[in-house]
Amino acid sequence: MQAAVVTVGDELLAGDTVNTNATWLCTELTERGVTVERVTTVPDRVADIARIVNEYHAEYDVVVVTGGLGPTHDDVTMEAVAAAFGRSLERSEDAAEWLETNGGYSATDLVDGTTDLPAGSRMLPNDEGVAPGAVVGSVYVLPGVPGEMKAMFDRVADEFAGEKTHVRFVHTSEPESSLIKRFETVHAQFDVTVGSYPGDHVRVKLAGADEETVDAAAAWLEAQVELFEEE
Ligand code: ATP
Ligand code: MG
Repeated sequence: MQAAVVTVGDELLAGDTVNTNATWLCTELTERGVTVERVTTVPDRVADIARIVNEYHAEYDVVVVTGGLGPTHDDVTMEAVAAAFGRSLERSEDAAEWLETNGGYSATDLVDGTTDLPAGSRMLPNDEGVAPGAVVGSVYVLPGVPGEMKAMFDRVADEFAGEKTHVRFVHTSEPESSLIKRFETVHAQFDVTVGSYPGDHVRVKLAGADEETVDAAAAWLEAQVELFEEE
């Protein structure tokens, strides 16, 4: 399963808010064996959101969109997702009912537009807030508030599945440039992918579908490099 993540919000592009939702979603999806192919941040503008959702919906198995829900004027994500599918926004009876039963909100308490979702979508309840999410085709629309986003993702997490990948990290104090030959060898001898992340030391990520193979590759590499010791 291939996925794209779309984070919506002017504040992300301005650098006012750190885009923790993107990283969190990438981690969750990857752990479930889903390959994330794109992470894109777009402003709170209907045309921009609609265009990218439309494109990614055509290209990937699933699209996860977060941010810009709710009825305030700068929250246009639902309108944009509806537009991407050529649908209208409609009052969702499911959302109104859920909010009344679980949140104690009657329709008159709610700001106009709170329960509007793309026509024909599946409503996702918001356990931590008010604005409901939605599933339209294979596009999942979640809130931007991290706590709300996580709780809503948990409700649908089982719908994201792929081949489970096993991961082992090897930490080495050698410089990345000196490791290239050994990376080639471990990749050639074992059915694993090799990623190398330099920082204060190099973290080598070995990943593959078979746990024993990944363990064997890690053991081999650990014997071939100078291991990094935490001070
Ligand atoms: P609500 O439904 O409560 O109105 P929302 O879906 O409209 O939420 P936003 O208005 O986009 O969400 O953002 C709400 C809060 O969540 C803001 O403080 C925003 O900075 C934060 N937020 C939004 N997107 C992200 C993100 N990608 N990573 C981290 N925080 C985010
Ligand atoms: Mg908002």
